Amino acid sequence: MGRIRVLPDQIANKIAAGEVVERPASVLKELLENSLDAGGTRFRIEVESGGRRLIRVTDDGCGMSRDDAMLAFERHATSKLRDVKDLLSISTLGFRGEALPSIASVSRLLLETRSPEESTGALVEIAGGKMLRCDEAALAAGTSITVRDLFFNVPARKKFLRSDQTELAHIASLATHYSLAHPGKTFQLISGGAELLHVTPVATLRERVYQVFGSQTLDELVELGDCQRELLLPPAPVAPPEAIADYRREPDDPPSRVFRLTGFISRPQVQKGNRNSIFTFVNSRLIRDRMLLHAISSAYHNLMPHSCYPFALLFLDCDCEEVDVNVHPAKTDVRFRHQSFVHDFIRDTLRDRLIESRPAPAFAVGTPQPAMGLPFSEFTQMLDNEAPPPSEPEGQNAAPEFTLRPEPGPQPRFDFGEVGQAVRLPSPGAKPPVPETHGDFPPGFLPPFSSSLTALGDLRPLGQIHESFIIAAGRDGLWIIDQHVAHERILFEKVLKQRAAGRVEMQALLMPLILQLTAEQQIEYARIADELQSIGFETEPFGARTIAVKAAPAAVPIGDLEKLVFEILEIADGELRGLSMEDVRRSIAASIACRAAIKINMRLDQAKMEWLLSALAATDYPMACPHGRPIALQYPTRDILKAFHRI
Ligand code: ADP
Ligand code: MG
Repeated sequence: MGRIRVLPDQIANKIAAGEVVERPASVLKELLENSLDAGGTRFRIEVESGGRRLIRVTDDGCGMSRDDAMLAFERHATSKLRDVKDLLSISTLGFRGEALPSIASVSRLLLETRSPEESTGALVEIAGGKMLRCDEAALAAGTSITVRDLFFNVPARKKFLRSDQTELAHIASLATHYSLAHPGKTFQLISGGAELLHVTPVATLRERVYQVFGSQTLDELVELGDCQRELLLPPAPVAPPEAIADYRREPDDPPSRVFRLTGFISRPQVQKGNRNSIFTFVNSRLIRDRMLLHAISSAYHNLMPHSCYPFALLFLDCDCEEVDVNVHPAKTDVRFRHQSFVHDFIRDTLRDRLIESRPAPAFAVGTPQPAMGLPFSEFTQMLDNEAPPPSEPEGQNAAPEFTLRPEPGPQPRFDFGEVGQAVRLPSPGAKPPVPETHGDFPPGFLPPFSSSLTALGDLRPLGQIHESFIIAAGRDGLWIIDQHVAHERILFEKVLKQRAAGRVEMQALLMPLILQLTAEQQIEYARIADELQSIGFETEPFGARTIAVKAAPAAVPIGDLEKLVFEILEIADGELRGLSMEDVRRSIAASIACRAAIKINMRLDQAKMEWLLSALAATDYPMACPHGRPIALQYPTRDILKAFHRI
């Protein structure tokens, strides 16, 4: 007798649940997506004990008939796909028909639903995959699904759950981010009777970001606007690798496709220790994609230290056929048809916006407070501290990790504590009356709160502190500029521009510098020899594992040359770890700039300071040095006035 058996549905569902339901937040994701697909406009989410004990989602969507309510729990039962062709143009969030039977197989589930056209509703109760009840009932139009005792019959899964607080943090974050994707809808999240989130419909994403994060976070973000890029399709149909390729292209396909990107990204001063604050939506679906993360990181390359990540809330919209969402059961992964086009579109758009906005970092005055309107920040903060479970490889999590808490910006390299204290000291209410003799500032005098680095061009240098930092007065306040990193930024952009134009300035060495390489360094050298040449190094092999450096980029001190070459070979090694050739080029330019830049503890005369400031103002990105450190700090006039109790 044969040994192969077809698994009963109940077991198959439990297996599917392993992929779809990782934790309470993944249940919420499926329920919320169903409610959104059902056309709901108001979503009420109730949870208890971080969702272990209870998760209930109530919507005012299209509801289900009694027959559909029962069918919904059959495996692969869906109203969203009709035939295989539909798989290529999925516009709904769900389509696999797996979520409800999977969730029902690992919990006690109650479905209450009524479609507005019918007079009575249906009530279905299931526990551990077994149907207990299916009755008619008088119900409000819409659907409510209650999931109790998640994993009550799968103790092994239960053990993997984190504390209630952590699970709640995941839930809060998920609910919030769906609310950001749908500003026109109402979202309410209640945990153990306490309301954690309640947002009412607004017209724009900006208003929703304000509702959710408050004005402080909004100030730290740059809005992308409506950015588009057109992809020209080749005239002949492309043959895709999948078996369902026949359906991929219709003969009347348009010859081009437009990709749209909207959303918010943080200024480079907002630096996070992990990727938890990056949210990407593709066609309104919250997804986690390595390629998108890479594109975002590349946009911040040389604007932020390597180990830091920004906050990003990105919405990419494109033709459904440009993206395959049927890659993973939890539908958090996607595959783009034109990966590198999408990658470059995102990287270039973000970088351009960052460069345009030129935000100036203000002095770190006091500790930034979590944004108002974010009552669950204490929960979400925990996600930042949470180490990933050992079994989960990075980027493979079924449920993305979310966090909302705005974090303090980077600590300035040097402590400006005295300045901070001067501003912090006066307590609210204790403001002494200002005698009239002190004079008033004319109305309309006050500059805008967050000023931009375009102001750098008009600064008047006053002197140096520690022969390292230039103090300058500007129309919008007092500035401190780190002379080394400022010069680094200037040289970095100069090296890259000269490299692009094929006109690098070089210095010939009187005696070639002979360097002994390890086997690994030899391999890296062979790979980047051309790049070295185009960026200003003249090198050639000189016997086994030895190279001779005959010329170097003009400004590099000869004494630093050996260290620089080895540093560059180490950067090239980074390519193996995922750096693109362009990133390697930028890193090489950063190293050259760092070696050639004026150092700290160096006296500068007035003319030099003036030159430095105007050259810095002329750079594309005067906010951060190529390693991501801030260059200029501003003490805005407004803060000065506040500190002197003038306002
Ligand atoms: P999928 O979403 O992939 O279709 P699910 O198992 O999540 O599969 O849901 C099965 C079906 O149940 C859906 O296709 C939809 O017709 C119905 N359904 C689920 N939730 C709701 C809801 N909140 N309102 C109306 N219909 C729903
Ligand atoms: Mg679904």
